[in-house]
Parts: sequence; C-alpha cells; structure tokens
Amino acid sequence: MDAEKDIQIERREGAEMIRATLMDGQVRVMMLETTQMCQRAADIHNATPVCTAAMGRLMTATAMLGVMMKGENESVTVNIKGGGPMGTVVAVANHGDLKVCADDPQVELPLREDGKLNVGGAIGKDGYMTVIKDLGLREPYIGQIELVSGELGIDFANYFTVSEQQPSLVALGVLVSGDAVLKAGGLLIQPLPGCPDSVISELELRSPLMADISRELCYEPMEDLAKKWFDGLKYVVLGESELSYRCNCSRSRMERALITLGQEELTRMIQDEQEGAELTCHFCKKTEKFTQHDLIRLLNQATRG
Ligand code: ZN
Repeated sequence: MDAEKDIQIERREGAEMIRATLMDGQVRVMMLETTQMCQRAADIHNATPVCTAAMGRLMTATAMLGVMMKGENESVTVNIKGGGPMGTVVAVANHGDLKVCADDPQVELPLREDGKLNVGGAIGKDGYMTVIKDLGLREPYIGQIELVSGELGIDFANYFTVSEQQPSLVALGVLVSGDAVLKAGGLLIQPLPGCPDSVISELELRSPLMADISRELCYEPMEDLAKKWFDGLKYVVLGESELSYRCNCSRSRMERALITLGQEELTRMIQDEQEGAELTCHFCKKTEKFTQHDLIRLLNQATRG
C-alpha cells in the first residue's frame, strides 16, 4: 500500500478559537466561531436545518474538549445516543480537526414554539452522552452521563460539572437558513477553583447576554463580543487557533476494518459481490472501491492474522 496516497488532503478552512482568562486567571474562557466547519458538515451530510444545528452544536462543543487535549496524538470522541429520530450522533476532535456523523441527518421536525430549531427533539433526551478521550495509552478515559435536554448546551455544562468536577457555563449556537449556515459558535466559561463568588455571580448576571452566541456573531466579530461581555473582568487573550472539518480516514484504515470483519464475512462478500465492495466513510463520505481481487487479498491477510 502506498502510504502517500492514503493521506487525504482536505482544504483547510479557517474557523477561529480564542482561549482567554478573566480576573488574573481565576476564570477560563473559550470562544469559538465554527460557521465554516458547520457548513462543511451540512454539505457533506446533505443535512436538514435541524440536523445541521444538532451536528454543529455537537462539533462545536467537541472542539472545546479537543483543544484541551495536550498530547499530539490525543483525540476525543463524543457519542450522543438520545433515542431521538436522528439516532446516534458522533463527533471527533483531533485538536483543531473536527468531524461529525449521524445515523439519519435528514430528519425534519417542526420548529419549536419559540421559533427555534428543535435540536432536543431530533436528538432526544432518553439516553447518554459518552466522552471518550484517547490519550494514546492502552485504555482510553471514558466519561458517561445521562442527557438532560438533548439541546446539548445544558448537556455539556452538566458533563463538565459532574464528570470533570468543573462548573461550567456553555453556550452553543448554529443559525441556519435553508442549506446555509449563517453563523455558528460556542462559548465556554469555567470559574477555576478558588474563584470568588462575587465573580461567579457577575458572570451569571451577564450570561443571558451570551446565550444566543450564533445570532450575536452575525453583528459583531468574536473579539468585539468578548471585550463587551467581559468588560471590567480583566479579559486577557492567551492564544488563538484554527479549527477545520477534516477526516483522517484512508484506504488502509478501511482495509483494516474489512480484515476485522473476519474470514466468514469476507468470504461471504467475495461470493455475493461479484463486482467487489464499496465502502463509504461515515464522516466525509469518501468512497473506496475494493475489487474481488482486493477482497481475496484481504481474506488471505485475515486468515494469516
Ligand atoms: Zn473520512
């Protein structure tokens, strides 16, 4: 297998993420603008507006977790199984590289009474959110928590507070019009241990201003919003980074997946599919064709392995 050919080159699309602190490091802040990333997800999955919003919110929150990972080969996967019509929704972050998929991204639901997309209805709330952090060790870290609303903002706040013992304010928003993502973004505010109650109260007081982040981003860039929202709270930027929709799938990964099907299943495929088999990546929809000859070669490997 030619390794060079396996590297899939995707056009990198800049989205933005700002890491900052308030009150001399007593509060951690992360702000994300994920419009392009969410548009890419909508296009790849040919998603309906409500599914675009659901996948976009999940990807935005997963990006927050991804940026917190330190090691180069560490990644985080968030799996949402809420019992709603979208089925399972999965997002993966490898630092700033994000990808997402859903069992059914074409679900349509009527708007909620307040005129918003019914993300909670599409995802459902009878189930679990599972966070899998692959730290490059043998066993990944797995945190699981019951969904509260399926709207995801509250669910992630609950995950941080309960599973990571880190009280957090989370805002997630994806503004969709037809096929177009107008704006998408997220905000994470974490008062660190020792942060005075007065600061927390002040942030809680201001939090309604920040709740509708995707709409706010239509009028002002992230930097300006942050300066306005955190005025008087010693807002200091620590760093900025790029986010993009990027899948790391490859033909050799698909081959490994086929080999793990085992001899019996591969033999059946070789007998049933005279034309060979076609595999499609769930995250980027890239398709790889495997001829009968290819499948026989993989069967030989499976038999040896
Ligand atoms: Zn892929």
